[in-house]
Amino acid sequence: MSAAPTYTTAAPVQQVAAQIDAARSILLLSHVNPDADTLGSAFALGLALEARGARVQVAFDAPDEVPASLTGLPGQHLITRDPADVDLVVCVDVASIARLARLAARLAGTPSIVIDHHASNPGFGDLNWVDPRAEATAAMIAALLDELDAYLTLPIATNLYAGLATDTVNFRFATPAGYRLAARLVEVGVDAADVLRPITDTHPFGWLGMLGQVLSTATLDRTAAGGLGAVIVPIPLAAAAGLRREELDAVIDIVRTSAEAEVAVVTKQTDPDTWQVSLRSHGAVVVGAVAVALGGGGHPRAAGYTFVGTHPALVTRLLAGLTRPGV
Ligand code: AMP
Ligand code: MN
Ligand code: MN
Repeated sequence: MSAAPTYTTAAPVQQVAAQIDAARSILLLSHVNPDADTLGSAFALGLALEARGARVQVAFDAPDEVPASLTGLPGQHLITRDPADVDLVVCVDVASIARLARLAARLAGTPSIVIDHHASNPGFGDLNWVDPRAEATAAMIAALLDELDAYLTLPIATNLYAGLATDTVNFRFATPAGYRLAARLVEVGVDAADVLRPITDTHPFGWLGMLGQVLSTATLDRTAAGGLGAVIVPIPLAAAAGLRREELDAVIDIVRTSAEAEVAVVTKQTDPDTWQVSLRSHGAVVVGAVAVALGGGGHPRAAGYTFVGTHPALVTRLLAGLTRPGV
């Protein structure tokens, strides 16, 4: 054990480590539309287990390929589209079984472990290590690797850094333990700018035109959330054409800078009548609870849900939900 582990657990990390250590073939599952935390966690753990001689597969349901912004993460060879049978399934950063989509079937009849930091996680595995105090699942994986006495190679450290930095919005929400972990990872040789550039700092030129178009339609409702205010920006299908999910997901980071609004909302049209809603707050409104009440999930300040219906109906429902922010 090294000096760093600090993340406390519901199921003890020792129990999780012992089960993982005993498995010869392991399937690591990430959530749909994977981000750097779920894939970085899967690759970091997968590379460490592979080095110990385990057979490791990593999978997520959709999209068909790893998002372009994440193809630089080491461990891509672990990805499989059609996983073979295994001794153990481990879900990383998966807030609910619905976030596995069709891969949820892989939990039936196989022992499973859930490792996650979403407070809304109901604990859908046989063993559930859910720690909402962890700022990223990657931070929990780092503690697990310490428990396993795994060596932090540069490829593993790179994956952990990617998850930690992105889920903390570049360390804005990192704990002292998160900063200590970051220092260890940089000492191993992680180049922070190099790791983050393709993930958060690169967009095609066409993004600027889309931004101009959708930001010009932003609306500010000062009465929303009990007078704390909300700013809403829709991204209709036509505006998103030709752009990656990464470009759409980055819009909220600009919208959340609006001084007059506690809550930032970006609604991304995925079908004519389906919207993926992203919510952000500065802490006074628990958007995670709002999203759960509307069928989604997330964290206190960053959450989301899917809405089926018209955009005006979406806004009406959401504003009603925001009047009871503590629900
Ligand atoms: P996003 O706004 O897509 O970046 O998501 C912010 C947070 O909300 C993430 O932690 C997601 O896990 C969670 N989240 C987003 N959309 C959904 C959804 N449809 N169902 C459950 N959780 C979601
Ligand atoms: Mn995630
Ligand atoms: Mn996460």
